[in-house]
Amino acid sequence: MDHVIAIDVGATNTRVALVTGEGTLSASVSSSTPVHGNSADIIAADLIRKINGLLVNAGDITISGIGISAAGPVDIHAGAIINPPNIPFPVVPLVHPLQDTFGVPVHMVNDCHAGVLGEYTYGCGSDTDNLLYITISTGIGAGAILNGRLVLGRDGNACEIGHFIVDDRYNHRCGCGHYGHWEGFSSGRHIPRFFRAYCGYNSLSPAGCACDTAQEIFSAAGNGNPVALSFIEELGMINARGFSDVIVAYDPEVIILDGSVVLQNRDLILGPMQRHLDHYLKTPEFRFSALDGRAPLLGASVIALGYETGIGSFRP
Ligand SMILES: [Zn+2]
Repeated sequence: MDHVIAIDVGATNTRVALVTGEGTLSASVSSSTPVHGNSADIIAADLIRKINGLLVNAGDITISGIGISAAGPVDIHAGAIINPPNIPFPVVPLVHPLQDTFGVPVHMVNDCHAGVLGEYTYGCGSDTDNLLYITISTGIGAGAILNGRLVLGRDGNACEIGHFIVDDRYNHRCGCGHYGHWEGFSSGRHIPRFFRAYCGYNSLSPAGCACDTAQEIFSAAGNGNPVALSFIEELGMINARGFSDVIVAYDPEVIILDGSVVLQNRDLILGPMQRHLDHYLKTPEFRFSALDGRAPLLGASVIALGYETGIGSFRP
């Protein structure tokens, strides 16, 4: 049976898996993404070490390709991560070092593009050719398949929806340096700051609420804290602006939600958001990922199989 190597390079962790042609992970290894060193080459060297370890343990198998899902921004033509916000190297070459070492085709896409491929091929997006995959976790990102084609953009960074402008009242600066962006309000990293600003703006005091983290705020709302509940409604209004923009930009039939913030707080995120959503176009169906955080890794295995980045449909 043919195997491929699927790789998920995140800002925090890197995972490498041996995957069958049917999408079964037969072995995998993961560890922190190496960021301490003089050169970005340590990241490719770490991947090569992990792949060799998997191949030695697997015994007598051959691999037909390698697919990489990488935290962006990426340049899929250069095969590298470019100016990553959380990795201290300006350029991280990945494709060429692996191609030179293993002599098989190597392809890469950004992690959300890999995620939508994973859902389309193995997850809950297999019944539509028009879907968006949206993660709300530390940041907010998306991948889109429209009319059966992966939407890539110039360098492979299309659908950076976390940087849609959703507000001009709170004057929040996003991690990218600009103001009013969705990710600067509704990501796990920025929800606590938004909560403090919301309380200040409305002269509210969150009595009896340990609201220092996003999850503490959701828990307080779940327990009926009135300030946390009113904030969750405001968060829903901000999220509705983001999702409304997504719907008019992409016209999707299905939106698949992934990421810890949304998966752990499904009703508190989706309920208020849907109350404020625009209904100019048909409202898509919202679903939750059931791939247990493996959508990008499985998408990387699809890329490795060659249903990848070029023009045309990649569905087998
Ligand atoms: Zn931004």
